[in-house]
Amino acid sequence: NSKSPAIDWHARAAALALDGRPFIGGQRVSSVDGLTFDCISPIDGRNLGQIARGQAGDIDRAVQAARSAFDDGRWAARPPAARKKVLLKFADKILAAKEELALLETLDMGKPIQYSLSVDVPAAARCIAWYAEAVDKIYDEIAPTGPNALALIQREPMGVIGAIVPWNYPMIMSAWKLGPALAAGNSVVLKPSEKSPLTALRLAELALEAGLPEGVFNVVPGFGHEAGEALALHLDVDAIGFTGSTRVGRKMLEYAGRSNLKRVYNELGGKSAFLVFPDFDDLPRAAATVAGSMFFNQGESCNAPSRVLVHESIADEFVSLVAAEAPKYQAGDPLDPRTVMGALVDEGQLRTVMSYIEAGLLEGARARVGGKQTRSESGGFFVEPTVFEGVAPAMKIAREEIFGPVMSVLRFKDEAEAVAMANASPYGLQASVWSSHIDRAHRVARALRAGTVHVNQYDEDDMTVPFGGYKQSGNGRDKSLHAFDKYTELKTTWLRI
Ligand code: NAD
Repeated sequence: NSKSPAIDWHARAAALALDGRPFIGGQRVSSVDGLTFDCISPIDGRNLGQIARGQAGDIDRAVQAARSAFDDGRWAARPPAARKKVLLKFADKILAAKEELALLETLDMGKPIQYSLSVDVPAAARCIAWYAEAVDKIYDEIAPTGPNALALIQREPMGVIGAIVPWNYPMIMSAWKLGPALAAGNSVVLKPSEKSPLTALRLAELALEAGLPEGVFNVVPGFGHEAGEALALHLDVDAIGFTGSTRVGRKMLEYAGRSNLKRVYNELGGKSAFLVFPDFDDLPRAAATVAGSMFFNQGESCNAPSRVLVHESIADEFVSLVAAEAPKYQAGDPLDPRTVMGALVDEGQLRTVMSYIEAGLLEGARARVGGKQTRSESGGFFVEPTVFEGVAPAMKIAREEIFGPVMSVLRFKDEAEAVAMANASPYGLQASVWSSHIDRAHRVARALRAGTVHVNQYDEDDMTVPFGGYKQSGNGRDKSLHAFDKYTELKTTWLRI
């Protein structure tokens, strides 16, 4: 039972002893400069322990370890079936450490323990296992050339991959990079977010226990402008798999341009549109879905459907339905197994979210429900699930990614206006169309400029489909076989015959 009512999570949290040192070359090491930072839990503001504040020297050491592991072929030269075996064991180890990893994830970033257990840990393990299972089933190609030549087109691992990930799904985002990169034979240096470094460090230990050779997977915690920048600028890193904000994604491209033109794969922000047409015959289900998807993970999801576009004829009814759903996601103690919405990741995020709520009110939108900070007595960072109505496209809350439990409802007059409003965003991560007419659903889905479009649902998802965005939501795709494209080079070999 994922809710494990018998476990006293507070007692386990109190008993935790953290090791915040970098993991390099198959072991925990002292950081070069000995700097650390406090690991603050967003649940109650408690300092969980000291984490190494990695600097360029630590990154350099990790990249060197990754490079020599790659160059001597201790991993890359193994047959795919052999790599698969190790990675499947790694996935098993993740599942076996489920409770420990879930607790670390919840303490570190504030999401409800029930979801760390039932969503984050299993999804990370499933991702690693999926790429492990895939890698010995992929064949190379022979080009259709003339009779006197044979041209082989083969995939080769790229080398050293720098993975830089955000705090909202620390384990899953790490797994989305690690799965394809490691299965393809690369070495990895992972830089987790300074706001959520704990599970990444444990993943590296579990991978080693599973038999991943030393140096193949290294983790250096630290800040973005220090460890992150050093990794993205490093001359011996072949590619950066980045997930984070569009602001920092831009920097990744600059770093690559200033250094060695390493490949940069950006998975960035979003402001996903959720379009509800008057012909849809089950508005209560649409309302329940948009609330569930919006408030899941405290609204800290890149694909949260934060722009809800509703036809004017049903807008009042729909807002009432959503307003009735929202309070079901009241923020509570993340360590209580019944809690469905937890704490925002830190005080800075709390301030950002509250400033968007204030901007919405100032610009004339109405908070139909929510809008306030809650549970402040716990010392943590909690906000009510909030639904804004009367939102105009030009308002900040309609345009910018808030990354908190704040939904904006806008009205449209007809299909053309709905599509134009949905596409009038620099982002293009996901979108959703709700209509009972198959022709309209297809027409609108086709017109939407987004990497994923959902029709009459929002939560369907698995490893088989690519995840990523159009426009300033990024390039490249995580998940699915397409992710191998990011971490492999194509080599053509001509043979005269
Ligand atoms: P962020 O861009 O602030 O940080 C992401 C990572 O980059 C962190 O590890 C951070 O330390 C590092 N970083 C920051 N500045 C850096 C710099 N100058 N050089 C190198 N590294 C640097 O993002 P965040 O606040 O951690 O995460 C939230 C963002 O992530 C949101 O915009 C969200 O939409 C996006 N996101 C996107 C996806 C996706 O798949 N498209 C998934 C999850 C989150």
